[in-house]
Amino acid sequence: MHDDSGFVLPRVARFVRERLTPALHRASVPARVAAWTAPGEPVPFGEARRQEYRPIAVGEAWGRPWGTAWFHVTGSVPAQWRHPELVVDLGFTGAGPGFQAEGTVYAPDGVVLGGIEPRRRAVPLACQQGDTADAERPECHPADTRVDLYVEAAANPDMTGGWGWAPTPLGDLATAGDDPLYHLGAVELADLDRTVWGLLQDIWTLSGLVEALPGDLPRRAEVLRALERAVEAVDPDDVAATAEAGRAELVDVLARPAHASAHRVYAVGHAHIDSAWLWPVRETVRKVTRTFANALQLMETDEELVFAASSAQQYAWMRDHQPELFARIRKRTAEGRFAPVGGMWVESDTNMPGGEALARQLVYGAGFFAGELGVDSDGVWLPDSFGYSAALPQIAVLAGRRWLLTQKISWNDTNRFPHHTFDWEGIDGTRIRTHFPPVDTYNAELSGGELARAQRQFAEKGRANTSLVPFGWGDGGGGPTREMLAAAHRTRDLEGSPTVRLARPTEFFAAAAAEYPYPPVWVGELYLEYHRGTYTTQARTKRGNRRSEHLLREAELWATTAAVQRGAEYPVETLRRCWETVLLQQFHDILPGTSIAWVHRQAEREYARVAEELEGVIADALTLLVGPGDRDLAANAGPYAVDGVPGLAISTAGPGLENDDVRVVVDERGLITSIYDKVAERELVPPGRAANLLQLHRDTPTYWDAWDIDRHYRRHAVDLVDGTCDGTRVVRSFGASTVTQTITLRGRTVEIDTHVEWHERQKLLKLAFPLDVHADRAASEIQFGHVHRPTHANTSWDAARFETCAHRWVHVGEPGYGVAVANDGTYGHDITRDGPTTTVRLSLLRAPLFPDPDADQGEHRFRVALRVGATIGDAVAEGYRLNLPLRRVRGGDDVAPLVVVDDPAVVVEAVKLAEDGSGDVVVRLYEALGTRAAARITATFDHASVAETDLLEQPLPEPVALDGDRLRLRPFQIVTLRFEHL
Ligand SMILES: [Zn+2]
Repeated sequence: MHDDSGFVLPRVARFVRERLTPALHRASVPARVAAWTAPGEPVPFGEARRQEYRPIAVGEAWGRPWGTAWFHVTGSVPAQWRHPELVVDLGFTGAGPGFQAEGTVYAPDGVVLGGIEPRRRAVPLACQQGDTADAERPECHPADTRVDLYVEAAANPDMTGGWGWAPTPLGDLATAGDDPLYHLGAVELADLDRTVWGLLQDIWTLSGLVEALPGDLPRRAEVLRALERAVEAVDPDDVAATAEAGRAELVDVLARPAHASAHRVYAVGHAHIDSAWLWPVRETVRKVTRTFANALQLMETDEELVFAASSAQQYAWMRDHQPELFARIRKRTAEGRFAPVGGMWVESDTNMPGGEALARQLVYGAGFFAGELGVDSDGVWLPDSFGYSAALPQIAVLAGRRWLLTQKISWNDTNRFPHHTFDWEGIDGTRIRTHFPPVDTYNAELSGGELARAQRQFAEKGRANTSLVPFGWGDGGGGPTREMLAAAHRTRDLEGSPTVRLARPTEFFAAAAAEYPYPPVWVGELYLEYHRGTYTTQARTKRGNRRSEHLLREAELWATTAAVQRGAEYPVETLRRCWETVLLQQFHDILPGTSIAWVHRQAEREYARVAEELEGVIADALTLLVGPGDRDLAANAGPYAVDGVPGLAISTAGPGLENDDVRVVVDERGLITSIYDKVAERELVPPGRAANLLQLHRDTPTYWDAWDIDRHYRRHAVDLVDGTCDGTRVVRSFGASTVTQTITLRGRTVEIDTHVEWHERQKLLKLAFPLDVHADRAASEIQFGHVHRPTHANTSWDAARFETCAHRWVHVGEPGYGVAVANDGTYGHDITRDGPTTTVRLSLLRAPLFPDPDADQGEHRFRVALRVGATIGDAVAEGYRLNLPLRRVRGGDDVAPLVVVDDPAVVVEAVKLAEDGSGDVVVRLYEALGTRAAARITATFDHASVAETDLLEQPLPEPVALDGDRLRLRPFQIVTLRFEHL
């Protein structure tokens, strides 16, 4: 046979484009449209409906950047129409879903019917109950032919600019301008031809299958020829009358069952909606509204769709802004169709949030899911965060989670991760079942190519054969579509394709556990070999997070102490409000610094408000605690004694500034040329080198400016050595920027307080400490412990880890001697060894131009402390001291700590009242050194009993660590104790 097979698919594609797609609707009529433009920020439906609308014609411009136009759409549907729908073109562009105009469709009574998105432009008008575009159902006849709807259209600008990384003023209302972005397209009432629609879905799935199958398979040739026959059977001049004949040609190839060994896909309806990113938080509220409404509408017509959505915050927005929609979500949740997943407040970054904050992501998330939605979330859902902390397995399991899902590690730029289903083991030894969907996307369409990719890439083949595919347009694209559901139904059991079933994530994890009880194990952090700039970009957002976390600790500690010792009222609402604000900013595009200017300026204002509220809580509690008097006292919210003030207590402070242990030499340029440890009799600064060295690098990543620091940054470094030093005050100027530093010696710690007036662009500022210490590895603090990372680049995995995240301290050492470098708001570090010298560098500032062209411009402050002759325990103490400075207070009474622990390895991380309002005192502790600990814990207040609980403050079935008045902890173990109120 002569081979003409190469022409078939292109011919089918052209027939679809030119004949079938235009025949999708049997008839259409233009709707009448009138418009009202909201003068400022978005308004609720009730307010918009009361406004004066004026007629608007197709082609008219609307929508300044970030503006809102309301369209009142009226008309009537001819009685003979069978599947009427409203089809709206807001003036959609070629930009991706979620990165351009979007609309929300309201009925006149304010009920949200669905979203209008670039790839989901139709809203069914009648017969929603039991009507499906796909299945054969009795045809319906709308009783009421009048149409009266409102579309709230958002003129969201395309911030991606085609992903060219060019600076744009559109990310801030102040600079975005007023020129309209869109021209209204057709707004029509149309009668869907279900047969043509079904034929289009048949062809889409089968064409995708053909493209995915190997060229020599009989199956591929059969499907190809069936597609050809389908095109032959349809009359191009009368598609409506002949579409059924076209479908008939495909019945046989669609009916062939899948291979017995076909990969099994659990398809979960989803929409990855970033809580802020290339749009402000307030737009996310509307994106969630549209997407959730769409999912609810699809559930009306498809009995199998399950829609999984994470983030308690997004549900809370629906509760507060769209109560009617929220009621429908609750109903579908009770049925198991709407599946809240993840149980976190937001899909947070997991590198930078502190230990207690990461725990609270789960405490507040799970608390909301249980309290407001009546569901217990059993897994962690973080498809997109930029790497995963080795503390996460323990935190997740202690919050009752049994599995974790992500996909992001497939973005690695160097190493391919070896597993798709595995047990992930954290720093304390806790394991959690983890799945990376091999489809490598969390926005699947269920195309033939995607399904084949999931099967082809699945690394566990031969031992397991099941994977999860999240499908649906994210970020305001509207989530799953009826077309995706059609693809799911056609691939349920189709020869040549993986089998697809619509399912809840929980069902997938149960099936995976059953078929694969002993998967491989990955130990330690899931480092993302990409987006290494996210530990540094938008330094004010980073500092706001760190300061807020420590203010929250202080506020809870002193408010609890005041409640227990003085009977004060506990400020439940203020603390909750502040926590929720801080947890939202930990979202994986806010704290990492990768959002538009609007988001980061708002985050800075939110942190300022949180600081003001918490300072008020702290001041009230301290005033009450110390009582009247004029003694100069100091409140120590840290876990260790500082200057004679015990941890968690208030007392008088000693001088604590001087001793004869260390001698520091600062040269006339402000560089530290010598740090001599008189006790150990050793010099720490290598000959010819200098510490406190600022280094400026060219910082021009190839892609993803705010996200990435590329390896090549190291090739261009300028040592900023010019400057003046007046004793201990250093002033340096470079480019358009100025640095002022104050260097002080305090005990065995050299402290450097750095102010930067930063006006560079696309530069990276590092602060370097070359040390005469031979360290093979460095310890970096993470949540509730630390990780070790090599200082060399022997393997591709080590080489790819050239920029890393640490919390309050890093430590380098050789047997018997070490040095700690602590910080009060910096996360990015690199620690390398050059012969016998180990160099610790902190990444202070960047200045990427996309997506915020003014990122990091302006004033910054960083405090850094170098502790000489430090153990890991000294590093831990230094981290707390620097982040929780003594707070001076005038009053009469010393205040004893609520709890005393007699082993410095066991650290009190939080003291608070229980979430349930019972008045019970909750104390969270952890083993911080990576050793075994047996600590005596003494509570100084009356209580009825003490119990060990999980993070959600529920009693454990049997105690794990509590043994009488002693706590026996394994390395890095977290323990929560609940002291019952008398
Ligand atoms: Zn994301």
